[in-house]
Amino acid sequence: MRPGRPDTRHFSRNRLWCETVIAPRQNTDSTANPLYGAALRGAATWVFDLDNTLYPASCNLFAQVSQRMGEFIARTFAVDLDEARRRQKGFFQTHGTTLRGLMVEHGIEPTEFLNFVHDIDLGVVAAMPELDAALQRLPGRKLIYTNGTVAHADRILRKLGIHKHFEATFDIVASDYLPKPEIAPYRVMLQRHGVDPARAVMVEDMARNLVPAAALGMTTVWVPTTETWSQPEADGQAHIHHTAPDLTAFLAALPD
Ligand SMILES: [Mg+2]
Repeated sequence: MRPGRPDTRHFSRNRLWCETVIAPRQNTDSTANPLYGAALRGAATWVFDLDNTLYPASCNLFAQVSQRMGEFIARTFAVDLDEARRRQKGFFQTHGTTLRGLMVEHGIEPTEFLNFVHDIDLGVVAAMPELDAALQRLPGRKLIYTNGTVAHADRILRKLGIHKHFEATFDIVASDYLPKPEIAPYRVMLQRHGVDPARAVMVEDMARNLVPAAALGMTTVWVPTTETWSQPEADGQAHIHHTAPDLTAFLAALPD
């Protein structure tokens, strides 16, 4: 283990789970609204979130990133890990992401933070050949839209064996450090990549990140996880057009 790296030994317990969770689960999506069903079939562009969407949330990668965030804060402000975690939670609650809080309240330079927190063990992530095949069959351009970085996305996509399907990654740097669900970077993403929202689909595990996508005219697919932050707000699910607990099965089942 390199100095400064997190102790990820306890994550290895999730290894088997993470790799075997790919077993198909029942999709609850009925594509009941024929309008949205047609939008899926006619989509010119698919915009995928990365973390917990293209790989299972059970990989617990975000737990590692979160731990690294706490270590970064502890190191930066010379506080213990408990105090660091308290501040981390405060940044997240007040600013939507820890990074945003560090930048707004303390003028932290984002690159160092992003490199530090994404320096994680990807040993729990396995290749997903069935997802690879489903993406291969899926017509249209494919983009990644992530609150992480291009480098983080690149590492994970290669590990999953699906890197070749994606034209580009629109990351937190391209978003000018404004994270989803701020709507401004969604507009930039669409404009920069020449995406017509009326012919685009957005796929996400965090329901709230689909609100701006739907508002801009995109068709949405929610990949639910058991994490509370994945769930829709209490004020409804009108922005969720499809639900895909098993993304691979969902994509594979789309009619030609
Ligand atoms: Mg995600």
